[in-house]
Amino acid sequence: MPALTHPRTGQALPLDAACRRCALCEGRTQVVVWRGRLDARVLFVGEGPGAEEDARGEPFVGRSGQLLDRWLGELGIGDDWCITNIVRCRPPDNRKPHAVEMEACWPHLRGFLGFVQPRVVVAVGGTAHGFLERKGVAHLRVRHPSWYLRRGGKGWEPEVAALAASLQAALQP
Ligand code: SF4
Repeated sequence: MPALTHPRTGQALPLDAACRRCALCEGRTQVVVWRGRLDARVLFVGEGPGAEEDARGEPFVGRSGQLLDRWLGELGIGDDWCITNIVRCRPPDNRKPHAVEMEACWPHLRGFLGFVQPRVVVAVGGTAHGFLERKGVAHLRVRHPSWYLRRGGKGWEPEVAALAASLQAALQP
């Protein structure tokens, strides 16, 4: 994994690749931190890594990630995005992270938010939305791509169009 150095400020973020703050460290191949631009204005926050993400070390690279990438192409923000997760280690059997695990990983996410300093945060899915809400992090939200994949991968266009409009408004100078 490349060093976490901010392209504009040169600030280095401690990666803590050996973190053992919660039990999820037991089953991980590696910590999964981000994909995209570290100086992005839009930061997407998902739930946690799955099997493919754990293997490749990047968030949203499986089927859900492929659909999310399609959405990114529709949002009118070019490559001005970054993706991370509430927890950095893969929960077993792709279960949702437990509250204690999300709490344990919060200092990492809080540090990452401070590092990237996005203009807009977008929660991907209900788990991320609920957690960010509890932490008082202002955000937009979108359903998790897996919700649409369970329905044949169809019907997401209106929600993504609405998100595009909200982003456009939020990113106004
Ligand atoms: S999920 Fe977060 S807090 Fe838990 S071990 Fe992984 S990096 Fe550490």
